[in-house]
Amino acid sequence: MSEPVLQAINLHRTYGNTEVLKGVDLTVGKGEVKALLGPSGSGKSTILRLLALLEPADDGEILLNGKQLGVSVMSDGTTRPLRESHLARQRRDIGMVFQRFNLFAHLDVAHNVTLALTEVAGMSKADARQQAEAMLERVGMAHRLKHYPSELSGGQQQRVAIARALVMNPSVMLFDEPTSALDPELVGEVLDVMEQLADEGMTMVVVTHETRFARRVANEVSLFDSGRIVESGPPETFFDDPSHARTRQFLSHLH
Ligand code: ADP
Ligand code: MG
Repeated sequence: MSEPVLQAINLHRTYGNTEVLKGVDLTVGKGEVKALLGPSGSGKSTILRLLALLEPADDGEILLNGKQLGVSVMSDGTTRPLRESHLARQRRDIGMVFQRFNLFAHLDVAHNVTLALTEVAGMSKADARQQAEAMLERVGMAHRLKHYPSELSGGQQQRVAIARALVMNPSVMLFDEPTSALDPELVGEVLDVMEQLADEGMTMVVVTHETRFARRVANEVSLFDSGRIVESGPPETFFDDPSHARTRQFLSHLH
Protein backbone atom coordinates (compact mmCIF):
# COMPACT_ATOMS: atom_id res chain seq x y z
CA MET A 1 0.00 0.00 0.00
CA SER A 2 1.10 3.57 -0.62
CA GLU A 3 1.77 5.75 2.43
CA PRO A 4 -1.26 5.87 4.74
CA VAL A 5 -3.32 9.06 4.64
CA LEU A 6 -6.07 8.07 7.03
CA GLN A 7 -5.78 5.47 9.77
CA ALA A 8 -8.29 4.39 12.38
CA ILE A 9 -7.02 2.25 15.20
CA ASN A 10 -9.37 0.30 17.45
CA LEU A 11 -12.24 2.81 17.32
CA HIS A 12 -15.04 2.30 19.81
CA ARG A 13 -18.32 4.16 20.11
CA THR A 14 -21.23 3.49 22.44
CA TYR A 15 -24.61 5.22 22.51
CA GLY A 16 -26.40 4.61 25.79
CA ASN A 17 -26.11 0.87 26.32
CA THR A 18 -25.47 0.08 22.68
CA GLU A 19 -21.92 -0.49 21.52
CA VAL A 20 -22.14 0.62 17.89
CA LEU A 21 -18.42 0.39 17.04
CA LYS A 22 -16.60 -2.50 18.66
CA GLY A 23 -13.01 -1.80 17.73
CA VAL A 24 -12.60 -0.79 14.10
CA ASP A 25 -9.24 -0.61 12.33
CA LEU A 26 -9.02 0.95 8.91
CA THR A 27 -6.20 2.29 6.76
CA VAL A 28 -6.48 4.20 3.49
CA GLY A 29 -3.35 4.80 1.48
CA LYS A 30 -2.67 7.89 -0.58
CA GLY A 31 -4.76 7.94 -3.73
CA GLU A 32 -6.65 4.83 -2.70
CA VAL A 33 -10.38 4.26 -2.55
CA LYS A 34 -11.87 2.17 0.21
CA ALA A 35 -15.48 1.04 -0.13
CA LEU A 36 -17.48 0.10 2.97
CA LEU A 37 -20.48 -2.15 2.52
CA GLY A 38 -22.77 -3.52 5.16
CA PRO A 39 -26.31 -3.83 6.42
CA SER A 40 -28.32 -0.93 7.78
CA GLY A 41 -27.51 -0.18 11.41
CA SER A 42 -24.06 -1.80 11.32
CA GLY A 43 -22.23 1.45 12.17
CA LYS A 44 -21.10 2.72 8.76
CA SER A 45 -22.34 6.29 9.23
CA THR A 46 -21.00 6.32 12.77
CA ILE A 47 -17.48 5.46 11.69
CA LEU A 48 -17.58 8.18 9.03
CA ARG A 49 -18.78 10.78 11.56
CA LEU A 50 -15.90 9.82 13.84
CA LEU A 51 -13.38 9.99 10.98
CA ALA A 52 -14.76 13.43 10.05
CA LEU A 53 -14.32 14.57 13.68
CA LEU A 54 -18.03 15.34 13.91
CA GLU A 55 -18.18 13.38 17.16
CA PRO A 56 -15.52 11.84 19.40
CA ALA A 57 -14.61 8.17 19.69
CA ASP A 58 -14.92 6.63 23.16
CA ASP A 59 -11.66 4.84 22.57
CA GLY A 60 -9.11 4.44 19.78
CA GLU A 61 -7.13 6.75 17.56
CA ILE A 62 -7.55 8.51 14.23
CA LEU A 63 -4.44 9.58 12.35
CA LEU A 64 -4.35 11.80 9.30
CA ASN A 65 -1.05 11.94 7.46
CA GLY A 66 0.54 10.35 10.52
CA LYS A 67 -0.76 12.89 13.02
CA GLN A 68 -3.26 11.89 15.70
CA LEU A 69 -6.47 13.90 15.38
CA GLY A 70 -8.84 15.20 18.00
CA VAL A 71 -6.35 15.25 20.84
CA SER A 72 -3.36 17.20 22.00
CA VAL A 73 -0.45 15.13 23.20
CA MET A 74 1.01 16.32 26.53
CA SER A 75 4.74 16.31 27.29
CA ASP A 76 4.32 13.17 29.40
CA GLY A 77 2.74 11.36 26.45
CA THR A 78 -0.85 11.46 27.73
CA THR A 79 -3.55 12.98 25.55
CA ARG A 80 -6.38 15.45 26.09
CA PRO A 81 -9.37 16.22 23.89
CA LEU A 82 -8.67 19.09 21.54
CA ARG A 83 -10.34 22.47 21.93
CA GLU A 84 -13.19 23.17 19.49
CA SER A 85 -11.22 25.81 17.56
CA HIS A 86 -8.40 23.33 16.92
CA LEU A 87 -10.86 20.59 16.03
CA ALA A 88 -12.46 22.90 13.48
CA ARG A 89 -9.08 23.43 11.85
CA GLN A 90 -8.45 19.68 11.63
CA ARG A 91 -11.92 19.10 10.17
CA ARG A 92 -11.05 21.28 7.18
CA ASP A 93 -8.65 18.63 5.95
CA ILE A 94 -11.41 16.01 5.76
CA GLY A 95 -14.17 16.38 3.16
CA MET A 96 -17.54 14.80 3.89
CA VAL A 97 -20.49 14.21 1.59
CA PHE A 98 -23.72 12.99 3.18
CA GLN A 99 -26.62 10.96 1.88
CA ARG A 100 -28.84 14.02 2.01
CA PHE A 101 -27.22 16.83 0.14
CA ASN A 102 -27.07 19.24 3.07
CA LEU A 103 -26.66 22.32 0.93
CA PHE A 104 -27.58 25.67 2.47
CA ALA A 105 -31.06 26.23 1.04
CA HIS A 106 -30.90 30.04 1.28
CA LEU A 107 -27.60 30.32 -0.63
CA ASP A 108 -27.06 29.95 -4.36
CA VAL A 109 -24.67 27.33 -5.76
CA ALA A 110 -21.63 29.62 -5.94
CA HIS A 111 -22.20 30.90 -2.41
CA ASN A 112 -22.61 27.35 -1.05
CA VAL A 113 -19.13 26.58 -2.32
CA THR A 114 -17.42 29.87 -1.38
CA LEU A 115 -18.81 30.08 2.16
CA ALA A 116 -16.20 27.95 3.93
CA LEU A 117 -13.40 29.55 1.92
CA THR A 118 -14.32 33.08 3.00
CA GLU A 119 -15.65 32.36 6.50
CA VAL A 120 -13.38 29.51 7.65
CA ALA A 121 -10.25 29.77 5.53
CA GLY A 122 -10.32 33.60 5.43
CA MET A 123 -9.95 33.85 1.67
CA SER A 124 -10.94 37.00 -0.25
CA LYS A 125 -14.31 36.90 -1.99
CA ALA A 126 -12.74 37.19 -5.43
CA ASP A 127 -10.28 34.35 -4.86
CA ALA A 128 -12.99 32.20 -3.31
CA ARG A 129 -15.27 32.82 -6.27
CA GLN A 130 -12.53 31.80 -8.71
CA GLN A 131 -11.78 28.58 -6.81
CA ALA A 132 -15.46 27.77 -6.47
CA GLU A 133 -16.06 28.20 -10.18
CA ALA A 134 -13.10 25.96 -11.00
CA MET A 135 -14.38 23.28 -8.64
CA LEU A 136 -17.95 23.53 -9.96
CA GLU A 137 -16.53 23.17 -13.47
CA ARG A 138 -14.91 19.90 -12.37
CA VAL A 139 -18.25 18.46 -11.25
CA GLY A 140 -20.09 19.81 -14.28
CA MET A 141 -22.06 22.45 -12.39
CA ALA A 142 -20.41 25.70 -13.54
CA HIS A 143 -23.53 26.57 -15.55
CA ARG A 144 -25.69 26.74 -12.40
CA LEU A 145 -23.79 29.26 -10.27
CA LYS A 146 -26.80 31.42 -9.47
CA HIS A 147 -29.31 28.63 -8.96
CA TYR A 148 -30.64 27.76 -5.53
CA PRO A 149 -30.58 24.15 -4.27
CA SER A 150 -34.37 23.81 -4.67
CA GLU A 151 -33.97 24.56 -8.37
CA LEU A 152 -31.58 21.63 -8.89
CA SER A 153 -32.09 17.89 -9.25
CA GLY A 154 -30.81 15.66 -6.46
CA GLY A 155 -27.88 14.59 -8.61
CA GLN A 156 -26.95 18.21 -9.29
CA GLN A 157 -27.24 19.07 -5.59
CA GLN A 158 -25.00 16.18 -4.69
CA ARG A 159 -22.40 17.30 -7.24
CA VAL A 160 -22.45 20.78 -5.69
CA ALA A 161 -22.02 19.17 -2.26
CA ILE A 162 -18.95 17.34 -3.61
CA ALA A 163 -17.55 20.61 -4.99
CA ARG A 164 -18.16 22.31 -1.65
CA ALA A 165 -16.12 19.65 0.16
CA LEU A 166 -13.39 19.54 -2.50
CA VAL A 167 -12.80 23.27 -2.55
CA MET A 168 -11.18 23.05 0.90
CA ASN A 169 -8.53 20.84 -0.69
CA PRO A 170 -8.93 18.01 1.82
CA SER A 171 -6.46 15.13 2.26
CA VAL A 172 -9.32 12.66 2.12
CA MET A 173 -12.96 12.62 1.03
CA LEU A 174 -15.56 10.62 2.96
CA PHE A 175 -18.84 9.72 1.25
CA ASP A 176 -21.82 8.36 3.19
CA GLU A 177 -24.14 6.63 0.73
CA PRO A 178 -23.98 9.63 -1.61
CA THR A 179 -26.40 8.14 -4.13
CA SER A 180 -28.94 6.32 -1.98
CA ALA A 181 -31.34 9.27 -1.76
CA LEU A 182 -31.28 9.83 -5.54
CA ASP A 183 -33.74 8.77 -8.22
CA PRO A 184 -32.15 5.88 -10.12
CA GLU A 185 -31.57 7.88 -13.29
CA LEU A 186 -29.47 10.44 -11.34
CA VAL A 187 -27.14 7.97 -9.64
CA GLY A 188 -24.78 7.67 -12.60
CA GLU A 189 -23.83 11.34 -12.85
CA VAL A 190 -22.74 11.38 -9.19
CA LEU A 191 -20.82 8.10 -9.44
CA ASP A 192 -19.12 9.43 -12.59
CA VAL A 193 -17.86 12.48 -10.69
CA MET A 194 -16.62 10.26 -7.88
CA GLU A 195 -14.85 7.94 -10.31
CA GLN A 196 -13.20 10.92 -11.98
CA LEU A 197 -11.99 12.11 -8.56
CA ALA A 198 -10.56 8.68 -7.85
CA ASP A 199 -8.82 8.66 -11.23
CA GLU A 200 -7.30 12.03 -10.38
CA GLY A 201 -5.75 10.49 -7.26
CA MET A 202 -8.10 11.59 -4.48
CA THR A 203 -7.98 9.45 -1.35
CA MET A 204 -11.54 8.33 -0.58
CA VAL A 205 -13.67 6.29 1.81
CA VAL A 206 -17.05 5.48 0.31
CA VAL A 207 -19.97 3.89 2.13
CA THR A 208 -22.13 2.56 -0.66
CA HIS A 209 -24.49 -0.14 -1.84
CA GLU A 210 -23.33 0.38 -5.43
CA THR A 211 -21.40 -2.84 -5.90
CA ARG A 212 -20.57 -2.19 -9.54
CA PHE A 213 -18.98 1.10 -8.56
CA ALA A 214 -17.09 -0.54 -5.69
CA ARG A 215 -15.83 -3.27 -7.98
CA ARG A 216 -14.64 -0.82 -10.61
CA VAL A 217 -13.24 2.01 -8.49
CA ALA A 218 -12.26 0.69 -5.05
CA ASN A 219 -8.81 -0.65 -4.22
CA GLU A 220 -10.22 -2.40 -1.20
CA VAL A 221 -13.76 -3.36 -0.17
CA SER A 222 -14.77 -4.07 3.43
CA LEU A 223 -17.88 -5.59 4.92
CA PHE A 224 -19.11 -3.89 8.05
CA ASP A 225 -21.38 -5.86 10.33
CA SER A 226 -22.51 -5.19 13.91
CA GLY A 227 -19.83 -2.58 14.53
CA ARG A 228 -16.90 -4.54 13.16
CA ILE A 229 -15.14 -5.04 9.87
CA VAL A 230 -15.79 -8.66 9.02
CA GLU A 231 -13.77 -8.97 5.84
CA SER A 232 -11.61 -6.73 3.64
CA GLY A 233 -9.99 -7.43 0.34
CA PRO A 234 -9.45 -6.32 -3.23
CA PRO A 235 -12.76 -6.17 -5.11
CA GLU A 236 -12.17 -9.32 -7.16
CA THR A 237 -11.59 -11.40 -4.03
CA PHE A 238 -14.26 -9.69 -1.98
CA PHE A 239 -17.01 -10.10 -4.54
CA ASP A 240 -16.02 -13.30 -6.33
CA ASP A 241 -14.30 -15.36 -3.66
CA PRO A 242 -15.04 -14.02 -0.17
CA SER A 243 -13.62 -15.87 2.83
CA HIS A 244 -16.42 -15.33 5.29
CA ALA A 245 -19.89 -16.84 5.31
CA ARG A 246 -21.26 -13.47 6.47
CA THR A 247 -19.87 -11.79 3.35
CA ARG A 248 -21.36 -14.46 1.08
CA GLN A 249 -24.70 -14.10 2.84
CA PHE A 250 -24.64 -10.27 2.53
CA LEU A 251 -23.69 -10.38 -1.15
CA SER A 252 -26.40 -12.93 -1.92
CA HIS A 253 -29.02 -10.38 -0.83
CA LEU A 254 -27.82 -7.72 -3.26
CA HIS A 255 -29.41 -7.71 -6.69
P1 ADP B 1 -25.46 2.49 9.32
O1 ADP B 1 -24.95 3.78 8.74
O2 ADP B 1 -24.57 1.31 9.03
O3 ADP B 1 -26.87 2.20 8.89
P2 ADP B 1 -25.35 3.87 11.84
O4 ADP B 1 -23.92 4.16 12.08
O5 ADP B 1 -26.20 4.99 11.35
O6 ADP B 1 -25.48 2.60 10.91
O7 ADP B 1 -26.02 3.34 13.17
C1 ADP B 1 -25.54 2.23 13.88
C2 ADP B 1 -26.37 2.06 15.14
O8 ADP B 1 -26.12 3.13 16.03
C3 ADP B 1 -27.87 2.04 14.91
O9 ADP B 1 -28.42 1.09 15.76
C4 ADP B 1 -28.30 3.43 15.30
O10 ADP B 1 -29.61 3.43 15.77
C5 ADP B 1 -27.32 3.77 16.40
N1 ADP B 1 -27.03 5.22 16.46
C6 ADP B 1 -26.41 5.95 15.51
N2 ADP B 1 -26.27 7.23 15.90
C7 ADP B 1 -26.83 7.31 17.13
C8 ADP B 1 -26.99 8.36 18.08
N3 ADP B 1 -26.55 9.61 17.83
N4 ADP B 1 -27.62 8.07 19.24
C9 ADP B 1 -28.05 6.82 19.51
N5 ADP B 1 -27.91 5.79 18.67
C10 ADP B 1 -27.31 6.02 17.49
MG1 MG C 1 -25.75 5.08 7.39
